[in-house]
Amino acid sequence: MTDSQTISNLAPQPKPWIEAIHAYVPGKSKSADGKPLIKLSANENPLGTSQAALDARAQAVAPSLYPDPDSVALRGALGELHGIDPVRILCGTGSGEILGIAASAYAGPGDEILYVRYGFSLYEIVAQRCGATPVIAPDADYGTDVDTLLSHVTERTRVVFVANPNNPTGSFLPRGEIARLHAALPADVLLVIDQAYAEYVAPEDDDGALALAAAHNNVLVTRTFSKAYGLAGERVGWATASTDVIGVLNRIRGPFPLNNTAQATTLAAVKDQAFVEQSRLHNLAERTRFAAKIAAMGNHGLRAIPSEANFVLVLFEGALTGETAYNGLADRGYIVRWLPGQGLPQALRITIGKPADMDAIATGLREMAEAAK
Ligand SMILES: *Cc1c(COP(=O)(O)O)cnc(C)c1O
Repeated sequence: MTDSQTISNLAPQPKPWIEAIHAYVPGKSKSADGKPLIKLSANENPLGTSQAALDARAQAVAPSLYPDPDSVALRGALGELHGIDPVRILCGTGSGEILGIAASAYAGPGDEILYVRYGFSLYEIVAQRCGATPVIAPDADYGTDVDTLLSHVTERTRVVFVANPNNPTGSFLPRGEIARLHAALPADVLLVIDQAYAEYVAPEDDDGALALAAAHNNVLVTRTFSKAYGLAGERVGWATASTDVIGVLNRIRGPFPLNNTAQATTLAAVKDQAFVEQSRLHNLAERTRFAAKIAAMGNHGLRAIPSEANFVLVLFEGALTGETAYNGLADRGYIVRWLPGQGLPQALRITIGKPADMDAIATGLREMAEAAK
C-alpha cells in the first residue's frame, strides 16, 4: 500500500462521460496464444510504403530539433495535389486526432453527435470524450441511408460523422447522396466526411466532399496517410474545411502534431502518386477477385457487403458462424477483424492483402463452410 492510500481514500474522479468510454480496440497481430499471424485486421497497405517516402524518411531533420509546428511543406504539397489553398488545410497526428478535436470544438454536454450504426468505432469515443451524446441512426442493410440519418437530426445535433467509404462495412454514398445530405442539414451543423479510404475510390466516382468543403462553411473532410499511402506508423492525417473551421481547429490542436520523420516521409509520399495509384489498382483487382469467391459461397450463407475500401465485410448467415470462421482463419495463420463489440458477431472484416493470402483465406472459408452443419 502506498503512503497516499494510507492517508486518504479520496481519489481523483473522472468526469462521468469519460468513465463511460470503452477504449478504442486496434486490430490484433497475434493469436490468443501469442503466435504471430499474417495481419489483415487493420486495413494496412499490403504493398508497404513508397520507396521515395522511405528514402526521405532516412533524411529527416535531426530529432534534437522541434518539427515545423505548421507542417508548411506538407500542406503546400497537399494543396497543390488537390487544388486547395493550404490555409484551409490542417494536419494532425492521424486523422483520428482531427476527428476528436472537431467533436470537442463544436459539441459538448447537452449536444448530440450523429452517425450511422456500424460506423467507425472512434466516433462514439470522440463524442463521449467531449461530453456530447452519441446518436446512432439505423443502417440500411449495413449501408448508410441519407433519409434515415436526416430523420435523427434534432435541434441539439452539432456534428454528423459520415465515413465514405465506411469502416467496417466498406459501403459508399455516391456524390448525389452526399450532396443531398449536406443540403438538408441545418447550416449550423458540422458535417464531417471521413475520407480515410478515398484514395481507393476510382477518380470518376469521387464523392464530391472536397468540393463541398471548399464551397460551404459547415463541411470538414478528413484524410489519412495510414491506408493507401502505407504510412500508418507515421501517424499523419489531414483535413480541409472553410478558413473559419480550420482556424478553430488550429487553436486546439497539439502544438507539434507531426514529428520530423512524419513530415519528411509524407511530403515525399504525396509526390509519389504512382505508388498510390498502384495501391488502388492492386486493391481493386484483389477485392474484385475475393468478393467473387465469397459470392460463390452464397449457398453456404456467406455474403460480402459491396466495398469501395481496402477491406470486405463478410457476413456469415449460414451454419458457419463469424466466430468459428475467425478462429479457423487464425488456425490457418491469418488474423482478421471480428467485431462482436460493434454489434457484428455475424461478420468478419477482412483487409485486402496479397493475392496468395486472399486465395488462402477464400480456400479456408470454403473448407470451413462445407464442414459446418
Ligand atoms: C483508419 C481510419 C481512419 C484513420 O485513422 P488515422 O488516425 O489517420 O490512422 C479514420 N477513419 C476511418 C473510418 C478509418 O477507418
